[in-house]
Amino acid sequence: MKSKTGQPTVAAPANLANNRAAWLRGAEAVCSLTPSPSKNPQRLILLGAPGVGKGTQADLLHQWCGACHLSTGDIFRGAKNLPPDERSPAMEKALGFMVRGELVPDQTVLDVVCERVGCLRCLGGFLLDGFPRTVAQAEALEQLLAKEQLPLTAVLDYDLPLEQIVARLAGRRVCASCNLISHITGHEPEICPQCGGKLYQREDDRPQAIRVRMEAYRRSTTPLTEFYGKRGLLLTIPADGTPAEILQRTMDALAKRHAHGNGGDQAV
Ligand code: AMP
Repeated sequence: MKSKTGQPTVAAPANLANNRAAWLRGAEAVCSLTPSPSKNPQRLILLGAPGVGKGTQADLLHQWCGACHLSTGDIFRGAKNLPPDERSPAMEKALGFMVRGELVPDQTVLDVVCERVGCLRCLGGFLLDGFPRTVAQAEALEQLLAKEQLPLTAVLDYDLPLEQIVARLAGRRVCASCNLISHITGHEPEICPQCGGKLYQREDDRPQAIRVRMEAYRRSTTPLTEFYGKRGLLLTIPADGTPAEILQRTMDALAKRHAHGNGGDQAV
């Protein structure tokens, strides 16, 4: 969707974003918005290393097509704040792994996702983020979607050269007072632009630590990109430029894929 100026137009302002209650708190919870049924719901998986701007793209894609941003990491982080009697046994188990900084075992993640299968059936589509993370999870998701007759639209792999990721993350600062995350470009490096508090750099945002994280990300994601590449679902989207430019590239890639009857592996 493009406006006369060539800028992406969006379906709903950000303040009308769905609160994703059914995803975050479980199937019993009722979402703040019922997405309008779409003739062509976007059922997407988002891949991309930390620092590529995947979260921003998920928000923009939600505003564009109405599909909700379904992050498994958000479920597990949110679970910490739920009263224990509102956590399912699978969720309780997952939480233990997450707080120790470990990956949650495949079967437990699948149990948590299956509890929320209604979100996958949603007529507005979905934007999965952080899941699947392993080939075993991808295979299980494939079976689940086949059983539910919900074909995936595409897998978007946001791609940025390592040195640009290092530059982005190494400039990231966190405010010790209000936790705002900002980038050192554009304001006094040590001062929070929101509250004037003192800024600090997270240990894992130091260049050497970033390189180690990126290598671990590459090792864990390559099998997944190969898995989806073989199925002709992978769209590689260059993640340089402004958020609006990256969104435009994504929409163009999806439109091209739709027009060409969902062809094979594509780089934009
Ligand atoms: P994320 O926000 O995607 O980085 O996820 C935060 C944490 O949640 C991870 O470090 C894992 O402990 C857990 N997690 C989220 N998604 C998954 C997944 N698909 N498989 C295993 N663990 C996950």
